[in-house]
Amino acid sequence: MKTKKCISRYFVLFLTMMTLFNFTVIQAKEPIKVLILTGQNNHNWQESHLILQKYLTDSGLFAVDVAISPGAGGDMSAFRPNFANYQAVVLDYNGDAWSDATNEAFLDYVKKGGGVVVYHAADNAFRNWKEYNEIIGLGGWGKRNETHGPYVYFKDGKEVRDNTPGSGGGHGTLHNYVLKLRNKKHPIVKGLPDEWTHCQDELYHRMRGPAKNMTILATAFSDKSEGGSGRDEPLLMVIQWGKGRIFHTMLGHVWKEPTHPAVECTDFIVTFLRGTEWAATGKVTQKVPADFPNVQIK
Ligand code: ZN
Repeated sequence: MKTKKCISRYFVLFLTMMTLFNFTVIQAKEPIKVLILTGQNNHNWQESHLILQKYLTDSGLFAVDVAISPGAGGDMSAFRPNFANYQAVVLDYNGDAWSDATNEAFLDYVKKGGGVVVYHAADNAFRNWKEYNEIIGLGGWGKRNETHGPYVYFKDGKEVRDNTPGSGGGHGTLHNYVLKLRNKKHPIVKGLPDEWTHCQDELYHRMRGPAKNMTILATAFSDKSEGGSGRDEPLLMVIQWGKGRIFHTMLGHVWKEPTHPAVECTDFIVTFLRGTEWAATGKVTQKVPADFPNVQIK
């Protein structure tokens, strides 16, 4: 009997190990498929998309492809990313209109449940594309105004939708600022501290848009002494469009300077990776680093 029990125990252990092994193999074999779409931007997309790609790849969770559009003024007719092959599309794009076929394919992808990550100046793009503006929730520049939707910000702890006429989009100086959680339950930010300091970035302000089915996750106070709006501005948010999940991060300014602190900050990396996983799968399996946001996880 003793021997039998022993074998039985070993057998259970063996099964457990096999299960774990299989789980690991499955995890390793099936990374989340992500497409970074770039190729035109008023920002330094040549560097930013590589930085984003490295974060995603190094996390071990994602398999990343990159779609680079023709340059400004180029022929867009052959630019046809196969969105349907991916679980999330990261938009690092602010430039010429895509072809009608690509626009339709993108909307079809989102409508059917495809994930989207709207990164920084991607919310400057496509002012006249109604559905795109619904997908990003809030946008700026490109002569956006009250016809694009309300200003959205926080005042006295409550979300405000302000239809005052005026242009949409702006920012003050590059500076450190405090991000404040406005939703503690959403998987992307669950477990993050109530407030933390984000480093050397633009703080987008006076953004406006349809803001339908949009949940603001974090805001930052845009100080007038830094050229800001004097408002608590939304910077991290999620939007539902069709069956698609969208994570919109206004953080992450990358310009021509040799260093890019706004995207090297741990909080950018952590929220970007968590937001991408959530957009792709509806879940977040990543743990918040114990010393968030004081350590860099490159
Ligand atoms: Zn910028």
